[in-house]
Amino acid sequence: MYDNLKIITYPDPRLKQPSVPVSDFNENLRQLVTRMFELMRQAKGVGLAAPQVAQNIRLFVMNATGQPEDDRVYVNPILSEADGDEEAEEGCLSIPGLSVNVIRSKHLRMQAHDLQGNPIDQSASGYLARIWQHEYDHLNGTLLTDRMGPVAKLANRRLLRELEEKYAAEHPTPSPRKPTKKR
Ligand SMILES: [Zn+2]
Repeated sequence: MYDNLKIITYPDPRLKQPSVPVSDFNENLRQLVTRMFELMRQAKGVGLAAPQVAQNIRLFVMNATGQPEDDRVYVNPILSEADGDEEAEEGCLSIPGLSVNVIRSKHLRMQAHDLQGNPIDQSASGYLARIWQHEYDHLNGTLLTDRMGPVAKLANRRLLRELEEKYAAEHPTPSPRKPTKKR
């Protein structure tokens, strides 16, 4: 049922919507996650959040190494105990071509549920913590474009404009109806 799912891209307004918690850990959810891993691998990404495939629920998948045993699913994640700051380069499957430096917390605690609804309680640093924060941002409708400073915005103005024009061409707004003359 998720065969037609694809990764949506900036400036699709669905990427800006906050997502709602998952309540049913059912077969649908498992199928969605299977498809999300597929799309993430095809796109050679390390993480993919449900809103990036137009499903506005609080769930993301990730794999930081590319090894199948490192597939991770986080449902209804909560990040806490943020400690330290670190700046590093990030990209986003929903903003193809963009690469910007983002300051993230260095250490974090993650509480969430796995695909079966079992509680997860983990801590991570560095790269893993960065992926958590990037994907968590997606669940709140926050994109890299919201994390960019003025210099990065200026440097990537052209790329973003191109993406906006491409999106507009693929999603034409209906032209306003001409007023009909009264007779
Ligand atoms: Zn992203």
